[in-house]
Amino acid sequence: MQGKRFVSILLILTLVFGMTIPVQASSIEETKKKGEALEAQKSTAEAEKKALADQLNKLIAEMDETTAKITAKQEEIAVKEDELIQAQIDENNQYESMKKRIKYMYENGNTQFIEILFSSKSIGDFLNNAEYITQISEYDRDMLDEFKATVKRVDEQKTALEGEKAELETLQVQLQEKQDEVSALLEEKAEQISDLEVAIGENAAKLKALQEEAARQQRMREEAAAAAAAAAAAQKNASSGSSGGSSGGGTAGPSVAPSGNGALSNPCPSAYISSEFGGRSSPGGIGSTNHKGRDYAAGTGSPIYAAASGTVTTVAYNGARGNYLVINHGNGLSTVYQHCSEIYVGSGQSVSVGQNIAAVGSTGASTGPHLHFEVWVNGTPVDPRNYL
Ligand SMILES: [Zn+2]
Repeated sequence: MQGKRFVSILLILTLVFGMTIPVQASSIEETKKKGEALEAQKSTAEAEKKALADQLNKLIAEMDETTAKITAKQEEIAVKEDELIQAQIDENNQYESMKKRIKYMYENGNTQFIEILFSSKSIGDFLNNAEYITQISEYDRDMLDEFKATVKRVDEQKTALEGEKAELETLQVQLQEKQDEVSALLEEKAEQISDLEVAIGENAAKLKALQEEAARQQRMREEAAAAAAAAAAAQKNASSGSSGGSSGGGTAGPSVAPSGNGALSNPCPSAYISSEFGGRSSPGGIGSTNHKGRDYAAGTGSPIYAAASGTVTTVAYNGARGNYLVINHGNGLSTVYQHCSEIYVGSGQSVSVGQNIAAVGSTGASTGPHLHFEVWVNGTPVDPRNYL
């Protein structure tokens, strides 16, 4: 639960910050790959879930079989119990009848027994008669022993059956435990699949948002390019109109006295212009024969502002430019700020128009504190005044 919420927050943060960060094709590709990986994980989990379900069904079948065996065993035991009861009755009856016979013999046959003994004509005769009586009691005793043996045998059979039944019941308990275990695993697997489905849904939403944002940014770029083209065309018409007069517009040459289109704002308002772009000479200026930028003379530490929003692509130092930075504004337009005493932004950082990005200085090939400001269009330095 906690994890899911965290993922949702991350997703929201990604969406919110995605509005300002340019969508990279690589992040869309990454999200697609993640989606594929999640689908693969889900397939694996589903296969595992199916295997567990099969295992569970097998266990249930085994349980049913064992239950049937226990029921059959129970019936056998019931039969044995009846047998045992009957054997015990038989044993008891034999014992009772034997006791009766002996009692009768001694009570009623006592005189007869004594008469037989005394009427015996010889010791051998007496022993024969005595033997006869003994045989009767022996028969009774044998019968009793036999019945007792039957009781013992039936009881042993019953005990054996109960042992088998107990084993089956142990097996059933084990099967039940195994079944519970597999059921728990199955439930876990189902939860895992459901979690994966949520993650897949979230990932798909993220992908959709990224693709929409990329499309939106593409539209904005196209609109900006169209607006810039329209502005350039309007400017061209205006300048050709003022210089050509009766010759008609359309084929005018490069503008000589540009008036600017306002695409860039003043990077150093506290300065005065000490040198313009081009082949003009300026007292104390640098590269006055072919000046690639515009010089803004101001005290060391005076703020330098981003002329337009964009991304810082370079922050560096070299012997000619001193500390300098380059901002890419998109649509082939970039600006360069040189001789800075300090630079406040880093390479890769997004800046907005008017942001204090650096301070005026005299680093590099410079004779006094000033900002040397260049505007580049598609790799060629142009007169900054065209864009201010
Ligand atoms: Zn300069």
